[in-house]
Amino acid sequence: MSPSDTHSPADAPKESPEAQQPIIEIIGMHKWFGEFHVLKDINLKVNPTERIVVCGPSGSGKSTMIRCINRLEEHQRGKIIVDGIELTNNLKNIEKIREEVGMVFQHFNLFPHLTILENLTLGPMWVRKVPRKEAEETAMFFLEKVRIAEQARKYPGQLSGGQQQRVAVARSLCMKPKVMLFDEPTSALDPEMVKEVLDVMINLAREGMTMIVVTHEMGFARSVAHRVLFMDEGRIVEENEPEAFFGNPQHERTRLFLSQIL
Ligand code: ADP
Ligand code: MG
Repeated sequence: MSPSDTHSPADAPKESPEAQQPIIEIIGMHKWFGEFHVLKDINLKVNPTERIVVCGPSGSGKSTMIRCINRLEEHQRGKIIVDGIELTNNLKNIEKIREEVGMVFQHFNLFPHLTILENLTLGPMWVRKVPRKEAEETAMFFLEKVRIAEQARKYPGQLSGGQQQRVAVARSLCMKPKVMLFDEPTSALDPEMVKEVLDVMINLAREGMTMIVVTHEMGFARSVAHRVLFMDEGRIVEENEPEAFFGNPQHERTRLFLSQIL
C-alpha cells in the first residue's frame, strides 16, 4: 500500500457546495482541568458532510475535545466556532450550538423511567416546543430509520445494548442536528451488537450527515472517514486520509498505537 493509493469512501461526496464555510472550526484551543493541561493547541476544521474519525490511547483527550464542541466542557484558550457561532459564555449561543450538535455517548444515557417514544419526544416537545403529535411522528420516523420502531412502547431496560444505542442515535436525530458527535458509541456493547450500531452510523454517513466519531473501529474509519485524527497526550499528533493514515503512519506513536489495536 502506498500513500498515493488514495481512497474514496463509498457514497462520500468529497466536494460539497458549502465546503467553503466549515461547520466546525477549532483554532488554537487549549483546555485545563485545574493545573492539568488536557488539550494543547487543537486545530480542526470540519466541512459540511465531512466525516472525521478520532482515535488515540485512553486519556489522550478525545472525549474532552468533542465535549468542548457542545460546551459540556469549557475551553480556556483559543476559539471554537460552530456554524459561524463562537462558543463563549453567552448562553444564547451555547443553546443555539447545542441545537445544531447532536451527541451519542458510550453509555446510552436514556431515561430509564420513560418509554423509548417518550425518550425521543422529550427534547423536541420541551426544548423545541414541538406539538406532541408532530414530535411522535418524527420519533417514529427516526425509530424506523434505526429499525426499531416496534420497540417504541418499551422501556430502555427491556432492550439490548445495541438497541438502546440505536435509540440514542434516533433521539439525537429528532433534534435535527447539523452535526453528530459520537464518543465511542460501540465500546460498551457486546461484540455481536457492534455491527448493528455501525450500520446505523454508515447509513447516516450515506445521507450526508457531518460526523465526528471517536472510535477504535478501524474498519469503520477506513470505509467511512474522510480523515482520521490520532490524539496523544492532549494533542492532535497526526491527521490523514484513511488509506495514508493506516498504510503509512508518519509518527512513531501512531505506529505503536495502530500495532496495538489492529
Ligand atoms: P479519552 O477520551 O481520550 O480517553 P479524556 O478526554 O476522557 O480522554 O480524558 C483526558 C484526560 O483528562 C485524562 O487524563 C482524564 O483523566 C482527564 N480528565 C477527564 N475529565 C476530567 C475531569 N472532569 N476532571 C479532571 N480530569 C479529567
Ligand atoms: Mg473517552
